[in-house]
Amino acid sequence: MIIFHLHLYQPDRSDPWLEMIFPEPSASPYRHWNERISHECYEPNAELGNYNWVNFDVGPPLLSWLRQNRPMVYMALREADKAGLERWGYGNALAHPYYHVILPLVPRRDRDVLVYWGVEYFKRHFKRSPEGMWLPEMAVDLETLEVLADNGIAYTVLTQSQVKGRRAGGPYKVVLPSGRSIAVFVRDERLSDELAFGGFERFVEALRGASGDVVVALDGETFGHHQKGAEKMLAQFIAHHRDELANFGRLYESGYRGEVEIVERTSWSCPHGLGRWSRDCGCGGPAPWREGLRRLIDWVGETVDKAFEERLGPEGWRLLREYIYVLMGGDSSGYSTEQLKLLEAQRAKLAANTSDAWFFARVGIEFGIAVKWALRAVELLDDAQALEELMRRLGEFVVNGRTALAFCPRLRGPLMAAVMYVALSTAGQTPEKVGPYIVKPVDDEFEVVDTRTREAFRFRHDLLWGSVENLK
Ligand SMILES: [Zn+2]
Repeated sequence: MIIFHLHLYQPDRSDPWLEMIFPEPSASPYRHWNERISHECYEPNAELGNYNWVNFDVGPPLLSWLRQNRPMVYMALREADKAGLERWGYGNALAHPYYHVILPLVPRRDRDVLVYWGVEYFKRHFKRSPEGMWLPEMAVDLETLEVLADNGIAYTVLTQSQVKGRRAGGPYKVVLPSGRSIAVFVRDERLSDELAFGGFERFVEALRGASGDVVVALDGETFGHHQKGAEKMLAQFIAHHRDELANFGRLYESGYRGEVEIVERTSWSCPHGLGRWSRDCGCGGPAPWREGLRRLIDWVGETVDKAFEERLGPEGWRLLREYIYVLMGGDSSGYSTEQLKLLEAQRAKLAANTSDAWFFARVGIEFGIAVKWALRAVELLDDAQALEELMRRLGEFVVNGRTALAFCPRLRGPLMAAVMYVALSTAGQTPEKVGPYIVKPVDDEFEVVDTRTREAFRFRHDLLWGSVENLK
């Protein structure tokens, strides 16, 4: 059998306060990269029915964006999951942690929240419980597998260099320290890399020499975005090999092929283990700033956790798990503004850990997004000392000849919402909401309410311009 797995993912480049994607000129003629990659890849693959025949996972921020902005693709992915269920007895979709975080690098409690949120998010959109979960960058250790098992996940996908003996295929049993076990499917590195980097002809050639069940896992964006026309080749390949295709669920049902041990703290995209997200390991070129960013984001995590526990007590951690229902549009009226601000600080802290900030050796837009989430997380704590300490750390963190303070927008949050309201009103629109902010003119002021926390801000309309001090 041949099993394809497509990892569909885009970094969430939304502004942390407004939760909107600002224009990205490099994606021109599209407004931003989600639009461009959807046009080049997700839409044609959906139209060709390719997702009906392969396993896939979708990062939640991308799936939410598709649902709102490209409902055709969103519906096609849901239908594809059902097509797998009808054909093979199991759906095609795998769950994904709520954010794309290198799980072994964050505390176990954070991993649990990200996995639990990911499972609940999956259930909401695919109307069933997930059997499998994709690990961001396949970053793995035994504790992360324990967290998956805690949350009812039966299997995940690794690459050959992550299992001792380099066996491929599966499912293989991994025995966990707790005595439980979990299954792993192992991606065939040669075949997957041929398809991702060599193209279809070389892949088909290499496939001729393969025996047994073959797992081919790669970025979904290969088909149409990284390789033009590959979406059509995939459709043709599927048409000619329908009887040989299966999904993970189908294979899982047929039982273990043996037992393997994993290589702890490894990933599919850094031969140095988890270096790529924590130190200057050499991946992509020199990146001396990686360690500093890791330290900064770790400090933000500790600071948020300390405030959270002091103010909400152990009860807070239960509230945080359940906060996913609010994030998915549920009622937050039972929470106080104080609770909501601390829960949002936790969410911002988790988002700040999104792996993309570290991935390339260059300092790109994703680095700035991580710094902005870190700022939002600490801002929400209402702790002047912590904010001052963050600013001091950012001021000392020199990247490419400037400090990380350069990534902190002075115009942000409610003030930005008020300014955008004025701009839109001037252009003839009168929006009630700008992102998650409700903006209302009241006397000679604008009242701006953050609907996530119900916190209200007021700005004098004639002092709005350039008056950042209004924020405090
Ligand atoms: Zn590396």
